[in-house]
Order: sequence, then C-alpha cells, then structure tokens
Amino acid sequence: MQILNGKEASQAIKDSLKLEMAQLAAQGKPVPHLVAILVGTNGASETYVASKVKACQEVGFKSTLIRLEATISSLKLLDIILDLNTDPDVDGILVQLPLPPHISAEQVINTIDPNKDVDGFHPNNVGRMVLGQPTFIPATPYGIMLLLEHYKIETKGKHAVVVGRSNIVGRPMSILLSGAGERGNCTVTICHSYTKNIAELCRSADIIIAALGRPGFITEDMVAPGAVIIDVGITRVADATRKSGYRISGDVDFESVSPKCSFITPVPGGVGPMTIAALMKNTFKACALKHYYEEV
Ligand code: NAP
Repeated sequence: MQILNGKEASQAIKDSLKLEMAQLAAQGKPVPHLVAILVGTNGASETYVASKVKACQEVGFKSTLIRLEATISSLKLLDIILDLNTDPDVDGILVQLPLPPHISAEQVINTIDPNKDVDGFHPNNVGRMVLGQPTFIPATPYGIMLLLEHYKIETKGKHAVVVGRSNIVGRPMSILLSGAGERGNCTVTICHSYTKNIAELCRSADIIIAALGRPGFITEDMVAPGAVIIDVGITRVADATRKSGYRISGDVDFESVSPKCSFITPVPGGVGPMTIAALMKNTFKACALKHYYEEV
C-alpha cells in the first residue's frame, strides 16, 4: 500500500506556481488577486478560508478576505459580488460555503462573473466541464485529478465508484472520471443515499471516491484487494483527548482499509491540501487568461 501524499503533491504544484509567478512578476505582469468572502463565523469555514489566504501568500498571489456578518442581507452580499465582478484588480472570487440559511447559495453562485468563478460552481463553468471544454473545474475534484496525475495512477478502463453526488464533489468527480481526459476514461458508478447495494458496488471498484461526510463509512469488507481509495470526507468528531475537543475524520476506516488497498489518501493530508492547490491553479488561470496568455 502506498500513501497518496496530498501535502507533498500540493507543495510541488505550489512551488511550480511560485516559480512561474516570480518570472511573470519580473516581467512586470500583474499578480493574481483572489477575493474570498466569508459570511458568519463557522469554525470549519474559518479554517478553510485561512488556508486559502495562506496559500496565496505562499505562491505570491494577492488575496483579500472580506468578512461579513451572518445577518447580512442577500441583496447586500449580491451587491458586493457585483462590485467585485467589475473590479479590474480582482481575478478570482470565492464565497465560502455553507451560507446562512436566509441566503441562497445558488443565487450567489449565479451572480459571480463566470470568468472570475475560481470555484467552478457557476452553471456556465459546470456546463463547460460537462462538455469537456476548458473551464474552471471545482477545486476538490480538480485536486483529486491532479493527485491521480502526480502519482500516475492509471484510470483508463477502470471501474470507479463515487459515493456522494453533491455539486461540489461527487457529481463533478463522476463527470471528470468518465470523461475522455488523461486521468479519465473510467466506467463510473455514482452512489447516494438511495443506492441499495453500496457495499457490493464498492467491492467491484478499482477506484473508490468516498465523498459523503460519514466518518469511517467505507470499511475493509467493502474494498477489493488492490483498489485505489480516495477519501474526501472531513468531519469534526468530538474527541476529549484533543486540545481542540475534536479530531478530523475521513469517510474511510483507514486502519482496516489501508492494508488491503494499493493507494490511499490520508485524512488529513490527502485531498484537503490538493483542493487548495487546485484553487491556486484556477486563480492563476483566471489572471493568466486576462493578462498573460490567450490559452492556458
Ligand atoms: P454533501 O453536500 O452533504 O453531500 C453528501 C453526499 O453523500 C450526498 O449526495 C448524499 O446523498 C450522500 N450520502 C450521504 N449519506 C450517505 C449514505 N449513508 N450512503 C450513501 N450516500 C450518502 O457533502 P459534500 O459537500 O459533497 O462533502 C462530502 C464530504 O467531503 C464532507 O465530509 C465534506 O466535509 C468533505 N469535503 C472535503 C473537501 C476537501 O477539500 N477534502 C472539500 C469538500 C467537501 P443524497 O444526495 O441522496 O443526500
């Protein structure tokens, strides 16, 4: 069994971006500028946004964090996004999800200029992804594709089972793996809460992508010997032995599954860092399409 080390792979991506950035900056080219909007004070969201801002600093991008009260009106938030859409100094906009219940995430996503939608959630970008056209691919599935690429994991002709069908992870993941790209050409089964025989489907998988948010859901008996296991889950589980009062748990029972598989991502240190690296690549692309190259 080999660990798919997301920290290492993401560092390689960030190092290469940093180098390219330094060369472009030396030529007087503008530096990519990511604006992150955080509504409210959700603990996990705070952590995610902080890592995104830190990664921008690491690679030499500009970043701005806009913090808004959880009580902000939907209209006010949309106004802020519209201003950012027309601000020539801003290349990428992301609104950290989830949003308070009185704000429609769909409306917010639809308001972001598709050319600045570095999360790849806007319907225009999702449509382009489905059609296999150049676009911003949602950061988590994009990060997983980059990880498969980094470790040269063969996907062609394999059976991939994706557990979870959310718009930000499972659904785009199933589209990318079934597409004709370098790390695509899989036959994909997508499972959700109404799927009846998940264990059996998983046992027939060469690759399992677990993205359901149920700690330890994938157990040893659900995995074929030699399978590739990608654990997307991040759930805070109460743990009195930790200073924070919780530990992070993935959707895969790592202890029982890891001896049986060929490759596995740890949690933390697997998909999480790859998501951030993919966001950096999308932000670079948003700026590059505007200022550096005609095609990226
Ligand atoms: P989500 O929107 O809650 O979607 C969960 C999906 O899993 C849904 O499609 C749901 O089915 C399915 N599901 C839930 N329980 C199930 C069960 N018992 N059996 C089969 N399917 C089940 O979650 P998400 O945003 O996709 O995130 C999934 C996990 O990944 C979470 O732990 C999240 O924190 C993590 N995540 C990690 C990263 C990262 O960077 N590593 C990024 C994003 C998310 P239905 O559609 O039928 O309800």
